[in-house]
Order: sequence, then structure tokens, then C-alpha cells
Amino acid sequence: MSDKYQSFTQSSIGRMLAKNLGLPSPAKLERYAAGDPLVRGTVLVGGRGRLAEELPGLLGELDVTTATGQVDGQRYKGLVFDATGLSTVAELVELQEFFTPVLRSLDGCPRVVVVGTPPELVQGRERVAQRALEGFTRSLGKEIGNGGTVQLVYVAEGYEGSLLSTLGFLLSPKSAYVSGQVVRIGAHQEQKAAAVADWRAPLAGKVAFVTGASRGIGEEIARVLHRDGASVVGLDVPQAADDLQRVMAELDGDWLTLDITAPDAPQRIAQHLKDKHGGVDVVVHNAGVTLDKKLANQTPDRFGKVLAINVEAPELITAELLAQQVVNPNGRIIGVASIAGIAGNVGQTSYAASKAGVIGLVDALSRELAQDAAGITVNAVAPGFIITQMTAAVPFATREVGQRLNAMAQGGLPVDVAETIAWYASPASTAVNGNVVRVCGQMMLGA
Ligand code: NAD
Repeated sequence: MSDKYQSFTQSSIGRMLAKNLGLPSPAKLERYAAGDPLVRGTVLVGGRGRLAEELPGLLGELDVTTATGQVDGQRYKGLVFDATGLSTVAELVELQEFFTPVLRSLDGCPRVVVVGTPPELVQGRERVAQRALEGFTRSLGKEIGNGGTVQLVYVAEGYEGSLLSTLGFLLSPKSAYVSGQVVRIGAHQEQKAAAVADWRAPLAGKVAFVTGASRGIGEEIARVLHRDGASVVGLDVPQAADDLQRVMAELDGDWLTLDITAPDAPQRIAQHLKDKHGGVDVVVHNAGVTLDKKLANQTPDRFGKVLAINVEAPELITAELLAQQVVNPNGRIIGVASIAGIAGNVGQTSYAASKAGVIGLVDALSRELAQDAAGITVNAVAPGFIITQMTAAVPFATREVGQRLNAMAQGGLPVDVAETIAWYASPASTAVNGNVVRVCGQMMLGA
């Protein structure tokens, strides 16, 4: 399942050919390994507003080295720009003044984060200026190259202290395949972030439930949540019992085999989590299927099955877990959508509808639960082209196009989706609610 084209372009002859022929030359992306520091290098902090002064202290809590003021000859691994003080369009030129001189002084796989105020929470000229940040960061994401990523984080006033888990994720190799994204923190007046004793094991003492955990992305989610300290309960269909047991045995986890669309599935899952674990902290609705056909050739059973597995089951299971109060305070509900649910795709009317439905579930539930004191959040990831057994089976030409049509000119790995889910899952992400973050290397496909 390796990317042969990428390996070729990393050989000396391949590098030369790609350069001379103007072909994409995908950078080798850095990924996080347990025990690594979050950032290997210095993060330059700039800008002005509510956060500029606080940022070095906040990043210090994550053992990240920061500098304020660019020094000639110094290289930087990351840049964080506080744009919350920019209240008119004319002031946006401060972005250019900060970024242009430093962009040639970045190490490989650099990380850029711009922090702003959610435009919907401010009015008039400030709203215009803050909204403009989105075009800036999305474009820089397409320009930066060399495995770099660029994100915009909108932080509501009063939620400055709730930024930590998000900065830790977006400045580290954990976000290797996430770029051009807009994240909102505290936009629905959520509970403030809980403190985490050890950012290397933020899920210590927590129970995480993952559907479709026997292979692919679900297996990797289980592994990363386990790495972060969680006790994992994996679920899959009875036919996948052997693989599921193997994975869960490795992780010292618990397992449950059933079809999530069975009428008694929500009740059985709730009972299992309550009886054996006293509740659940993190619920990841990962199980999903595609049964692609153009609509003209579609049948009701295939169309309905995709909707039932991908969105109706997560909806009903979540409702049951909440109704029976199985989800612990500061709990997490996390959906797995898809880029197809945002952009649409030929042959995928059922799949794209189901994945857009997952986004609808996030919208509906996150707002509802934000009013509650329990601090339960609802977010989703929307993966792009992720290299799994499923995508390895895609015909060569289609796979090549799918893999290259993004700012990083390569497919992502299951671990990239898993790391994004682990960021949502952190107890410090209480104010990260109602977000749908694409894990797609900033794919060219858009709405
Ligand atoms: P996969 O087919 O390898 O894994 C899906 C798992 O879900 C399997 O273990 C399967 O047995 C389980 N499952 C399916 N139906 C079930 C049911 N009714 N009850 C219980 N378990 C069931 O797929 P994957 O590539 O690992 O995808 C995981 C998720 O990511 C899916 O929701 C998929 O739609 C989504 N996704 C994947 C990609 C990609 O490029 N691979 C892109 C976007 C979204």
C-alpha cells in the first residue's frame, strides 16, 4: 500500500526527472511517534491582539520553544500569528509584513497557525477583516510547500486558555495531512477546557469506544487513542471478530461484535458500556461502507444500506447513549464524514448523502449539547484520499489522480485521521465543538 510514485521522486534520478518535467514532487511528511517532542524547533510568534502576549506562555506549557521577533539566519519550525487585533481590512497588510520576510526561513514540514475571532461573533468592519483571514490562510496552505500546513483558528473572546490542545495538534507532526482548515473554539459558548495533567497521555483513565475497529482507519484510531492512555472498546461485525480480537488483545482492550444497524444495537452497546465500563468518555463512529453506483442504476436496498450504516446508526446509537446517560461528563462524540460529503462525487449519491448527514449530526447535536453543563462535544473529521486496503483496490489511474490532486501531492495515512480524532478526544478540547475538519492534504475538490 506504499506510494510508489512518491518513493520514486525521492530517489536522485526521480527527483531530477520530476523537476525537469514539472511533475509533482511530494514531500516526505513528518509524523509523530510516541515520546517525541511536539515541535522540533522554534515557533516564531507575531501579530497583535488578545493572544500575542499569552502565546509564548501557553506554548511553554507544551514544552514548545518560542521566539518573538525574527532574527536573521534563524530557522523556524512554526509560525503563530495573532490576528485578533486586526479590525479593518487595511490592517490585514500586517499579515504580509509578518509572513513575507520569514517564509524563506522555515524548516521542512513547517506549521503555520493564524488566530482570529469568529466573524459571526463580531460586527461591522471587524467582521469583514476577520472573515478575510480565511482566504489568506487557505491560499498560503496551497503555496507553502515542503510538507507545510497552514490553519486558521477562530477563538471566541474568553476562550484564550482553551487553545492548548489545538495548538499542540496543529503545530506538531500529528497534523501532517491537515491543511487549509478553519477551526472554531468557544463559538457556541461551550464549557472552558479541562486541564490535562500529562499531554503525552491525555486520555489516561478514559474509556474510548470505536466502531469498525478491526482494520483500516478504525484500527489506527484504536491504536492512537490507546497510545494516549485510553482503555479502548472496539466494535465490528461478527464476520470481523478474529481481526477485532487480535487488535483489541494487542491494546489490552475490550471488544463487541454486532451489526450497528441491528434494531437492538443501540441498546446492546449502551448496556455493554454501562455494565462493563461504568460509562464511556469518547465515542468514535468510524464504521462505514460505500456501495457506489450512479443514481440511474441505483437500487433501494443498496442506497438505504449506506445511509443506515453511515449516518442513521451513529444517530440512533448517540441518542441512546445520551438518553441513558452513558456518556460521561466532558465526553466526546466524534463522527467520520468524508470529503465526498462536502464536494459530492460521481457514483456516490448515497455515500455523499450519508457523509453530509454526519456533518448535519455534528451541527444539530453540538449546538444542543453546548447548552448543557456536561461539556460533551460533537465534531467530525472529513478524510480525503487515505491509503487503505479500500483505496488500494481503486484502479491505478483513478488512484493516481485522487492521490495527487491536493496541496501535498500524496495520499494520507490512517494515522492522520486517527491523530485528528485524538485531538478532538482530549479532555482539553472541551471548547472545540461543532467542527468538521478535513484530513485531505488540502484537496482541490471543494463544494
Ligand atoms: P474499511 O472498510 O477498511 O473499514 C470499515 C470498518 O467498518 C470495517 O471493519 C467494517 O467491518 C466495519 N463495518 C462496516 N459495516 C458495519 C456495520 N454495519 N456494523 C459494524 N461495523 C461495520 O474502511 P476505512 O477506509 O477504514 O474507512 C473507515 C471510515 O472512514 C468509514 O466511515 C469511511 O467511510 C471513512 N472514509 C474513508 C476514506 C478512505 O480514503 N479510506 C475516505 C473518507 C472517509
